[in-house]
Parts: sequence; structure tokens; C-alpha cells
Amino acid sequence: MILIDGKKVSSDIKSELKEEISALYNKTGKSPGLVVIIVGNNPASEVYVRNKHKACGEVGINSTVLNLPEETTQGELLQKISEFNADPNIHGILVQLPLPKQIEESAVIRAIDPGKDVDGFHPYTVGELVIGDPKFQPCTPAGIVELLKRYDIDPSGRHVVIVGRSNIVGKPAALLLMQKKKFANAIVTVCHSAAKDISVFTKQADILIAAMGVPKFIKKEMVKPGVVVIDVGTNRIEDATTKSGYRLVGDVDFEEVSTVASYITPVPGGVGPMTIAMLLKNTVKSFKETIRND
Ligand code: NAP
Repeated sequence: MILIDGKKVSSDIKSELKEEISALYNKTGKSPGLVVIIVGNNPASEVYVRNKHKACGEVGINSTVLNLPEETTQGELLQKISEFNADPNIHGILVQLPLPKQIEESAVIRAIDPGKDVDGFHPYTVGELVIGDPKFQPCTPAGIVELLKRYDIDPSGRHVVIVGRSNIVGKPAALLLMQKKKFANAIVTVCHSAAKDISVFTKQADILIAAMGVPKFIKKEMVKPGVVVIDVGTNRIEDATTKSGYRLVGDVDFEEVSTVASYITPVPGGVGPMTIAMLLKNTVKSFKETIRND
């Protein structure tokens, strides 16, 4: 079994981006800018935002974190987004989800300029993904494809089974992997909670992507020997032995499944760091387009 080390790959990507950003700065005197907006005090979101801010600092992206109070209205948030849309020093805008209940997520996503949609969630970006040529690939699915590339696991002609059909992971991962392109071109099955016996599908997978949000759901008997396993799940479970009182586990029972898989991602240290690396990559892509147009 080979462990797919997302931490190492993401660190390699960050080094590559750092060099690229530094070269661009030497040429233009400008650096990419990302704004991350967080509304309220969701502890998991705060950790994600902190990690994104730190990663930006490591590579030379100017990152601004805008912390808005829990009671922020939709109008106030949309006003902020409109200001960032117009700001030439901001090349990427990310609104950390979930949002408090008084704010409609889809209205917020639609308000972001598609040219700065580095998360890849705007319907315009999704439409581009459907037709096969998105300016920004959604970060988590792009991170999965990048991991496959860096481990030379070509999904072409292989059966990829995805468990989960969310707009941020399952669906866009299916769209990316089914494209008639290099390091895609897979035969894709997407499963969800309506499946009566999900193992009928998971057992057929050459590459299994688990993105359901159910701790350790995928067991050894649900996969075939030699399967490549990409575990997107990031679930907090109680653990009195840790300082925080919890630990992170994936949707895959790693101890069991790693004994039969050919490749497997760990949680943490698999897909999670890749999501951030792809966010940085998208921000740099956006920046490069603006300096090209100057
Ligand atoms: P989500 O929006 O809750 O979607 C979960 C999907 O899994 C749904 O399509 C659901 O089916 C399906 N599902 C749930 N239980 C199932 C079951 N027992 N059998 C079959 N399908 C089942 O979740 P998400 O946002 O995609 O996130 C999924 C997981 O990935 C979470 O643990 C999340 O924290 C993690 N995540 C990690 C990253 C990262 O960077 N590593 C990024 C995003 C998400 P229905 O559609 O029928 O309800």
C-alpha cells in the first residue's frame, strides 16, 4: 500500500507557487491578493480560514481576512463583496461556508465576480466546468486530480466511484474526472443516500472517492483489493486523549481499508492540504490574467 501524502504534495505546490509569485513580483512589482470573508464564529470555519491565511503568507499572496459578526445581514455582506469585486488589488474572493441562517448562500456565491471566483462555486464557473473549460477548477476536486497526477495514477478508462453528490465535492469531482482530457477520461459513477446497498457500487471502484461526511463508513469488505482510495471526509469525533477533546477522521475506515488498497489518502494530511494548495493556485491564475490584461 502506498500512502498518498497530500501534505507533501501541497508543500511542493506551495514552493512552486512561491517561486512563480516572486518572479512575477520582480517583473511587475505586484503580488496576488485574496480576501477571505468569515461570518460568525463557527470553530471549524475559523480553523480553515486561519490555515488559508497562513498558506497565503507562506507563498507571498497578500491575504485579508474579513471577520464579520454573526448578526451580519445579507445586504451588508453583499455590499462588502461588491467592494472587493471592484478592488483591483483583490484577485480572489472566498466566502467561508456555512453562513448564518439569515444569509442565503446562493445569493452570496452569485454576487462574487466570476473572474475572482477562486473557490469555483459561482454558477458561471460551474457551467464552464460542465462544458469542460473552467477558468477556476473547484479546489477540493482539483486537489484530488492533482494528487492522482503527482502519484501517476491515470484515471483514464478506469471506474471512479464517488460517494456523495454535493455541489462542492461530489458533483464537480465527477465533472472533472469524466472530461475527455489527460488525467481524467474516467468512467464515473456517483452514489448518494438513496442507494439501497452502497457496497454494490463501491466494490466496483478502481478509484473510490469518499465524500459523504460519515466517519469511517467505508469498510474493507466494501472495496475490491487494489483499489485507490481518496478520502475527502473530514469528521470531528470525540477523543478525550487529545488536548482539543476531538480528532479528525475520514469517511473511510483507514486501519481496515489500508490493508487492501493499493493507494490511500490519510485524514488528516490527504485531501485537506490540497484544497488549500488549489485555492492558492487559482488566486495566482487570476492574478496572472489581470497582469496580462494590464
Ligand atoms: P454534504 O454536502 O453533506 O454531502 C454529503 C453527500 O454524501 C450527500 O450527497 C449525501 O447524499 C451523501 N451521503 C451521506 N450519507 C450517505 C450514506 N450513508 N450513503 C450514501 N451517501 C451518503 O457533504 P460535503 O460538503 O460534500 O462534504 C463531505 C465530507 O467531505 C465532509 O466530511 C466534509 O467535511 C468533507 N470535506 C472536506 C474537504 C477537504 O478539503 N478535505 C472539502 C469539502 C468537504 P444525499 O445527497 O442523498 O443527501
